[in-house]
Amino acid sequence: MAAAVRGRRHRRASNAPVSRVLVIGAGPAGSVFAIRMAMLGHEVTLVERAAFPRRRLGEALTPGVRPLLEAVGAGDAIAHAGGRPVAAIRQLWDGPEGRRLDPAAAGCIIDRGRLDARLLEIARAAGVVVRQTASVVARTADATGWRLVLSTAQGPVHWRGDFLADATGRTGQGIAQGPRTIAAHAYWRLGVDTPPEPCIEAGAQAWFWGVPLPGGLYNTLVICRPETLRAARGTTLQARLRTLLAQSRLLRGLSGRTCDGPVGARDATPRISADPVGPRFIRVGDAALSLDPISSSGVQKAIQGALAAAVTANTLLRRPEAGTTALAFYRDSLRRTADRHRRWATAHYATAAATRPDRFWQERAAGAPDASSPPGPALDAQLMRMRPARVSPLTRIGIAPCLGAEFVSEQPVVTHPGIDGPIAYLGGHAIAPLLARFPQGATPLEVARSWGDRVPLKPALAILARLLDDGVIVLEPPETGTDMGAQPGPAAQ
Ligand SMILES: Cc1cc2nc3c(=O)[nH]c(=O)nc-3n(C[C@H](O)[C@H](O)[C@H](O)COP(=O)(O)OP(=O)(O)OC[C@H]3O[C@@H](n4cnc5c(N)ncnc54)[C@H](O)[C@@H]3O)c2cc1C
Repeated sequence: MAAAVRGRRHRRASNAPVSRVLVIGAGPAGSVFAIRMAMLGHEVTLVERAAFPRRRLGEALTPGVRPLLEAVGAGDAIAHAGGRPVAAIRQLWDGPEGRRLDPAAAGCIIDRGRLDARLLEIARAAGVVVRQTASVVARTADATGWRLVLSTAQGPVHWRGDFLADATGRTGQGIAQGPRTIAAHAYWRLGVDTPPEPCIEAGAQAWFWGVPLPGGLYNTLVICRPETLRAARGTTLQARLRTLLAQSRLLRGLSGRTCDGPVGARDATPRISADPVGPRFIRVGDAALSLDPISSSGVQKAIQGALAAAVTANTLLRRPEAGTTALAFYRDSLRRTADRHRRWATAHYATAAATRPDRFWQERAAGAPDASSPPGPALDAQLMRMRPARVSPLTRIGIAPCLGAEFVSEQPVVTHPGIDGPIAYLGGHAIAPLLARFPQGATPLEVARSWGDRVPLKPALAILARLLDDGVIVLEPPETGTDMGAQPGPAAQ
């Protein structure tokens, strides 16, 4: 295999130096990372232990997945995976049973096995050398690079490379970002009886998720504390899963049916790696950060993370002088994503926890913001026209590591305690220079017009609406008047 890796010639994007990049794991994160690194001109080899297609959790995709796949030329992967739009979800959560509607049907359900197989095919077409089925059983680094030992049907194989990407998915390692959680799941072949819509239910001490898949297959998941699964009546995992499903109002009808394939149980605790990146390695996807499954956005986050990881790795390999900036960028962006998801998940659990006293709910809802606090003023057209605005005294303009198309570099950014992290661009427009020339005391409409040489009116108003929403700029109370000349502008750092 080593000879095949050396012999294969990859397209080179430029005269930039080419590195041998090793990727372990061909989930969405590993394949997308490999495709992007090949597009950047590196020699990429990818190893996957499972034969495809294989079943995998992560079958409900959020709307953001499609544009991310399009960015690496994999826009057809969702159709290949039998993608079916989801216009409604049956739910029993914080009120009576009902249907949560999405008229735009922006999310979809796919066959994950087929999605991953298609992404791997696209990686091959991009010049990535793939070894499947082979499992990495040892990895060591020395001054000359990485050595991997692969276990294959033909015996051990050795690979060498300059840079290693670990995209092996959830390993149960890393720093827990919430209470310990387990997911037990089973597939059922229901054929014509398959419910047309997914369902989600908050039970007394667990939540339940039912996903109708292409081909009359149905996946059921029970997400609970590990102790709850252990304590459920039954001597086998399947028996315990059935006991828990019988407690669900929406899924108990399955208890008399036969499972299709083995019942599984896996760690579903949100986690972040303590060591996600170094000068010659990076962890990608769930191996770097795994989310609470309540968000149903693990695949989107894995692909987004893989794209950011490829730019980080490219910077480490080709601009080692910017290595510190690249390492800081990747660590910070993982941290911010983890924090954002934790806040969202806590607030979401809190809506169901209000009527569920069990420890499962109370632990997950702890620290949620008070839902009774009044919302900020609505950003209607009249406010945009009538009320003077100013940059919040808490807003800062500074310099921070940012993601570019190929490299991480330091850029002017805007920060504010109300936003997750530094913002360099909104809608493709650099924000710091716009805020630096903000006419304090002008109405948002006047501000948008004053930016007219750089941003057309409509996107300028959209940017202002977003900045108002985040608190980066604030509207004056009506009684304060319009003389804002003495207000401070954004402080430079
Ligand atoms: C209960 C639950 C429900 C979920 N539901 C959703 C959902 O509805 N929607 C959603 O978007 N996400 C969901 N997710 C999250 C989603 O499953 C993951 O975020 C996503 O699969 C991460 O992709 P990845 O490429 O990082 O890892 P994975 O998809 O886990 O891929 C890792 C790959 O690495 C391979 N591998 C591992 N070790 C080795 C080795 N030593 N050698 C070679 N190959 C190796 C594995 O075989 C695997 O193919 C859910 C997660 C859980 C736990």
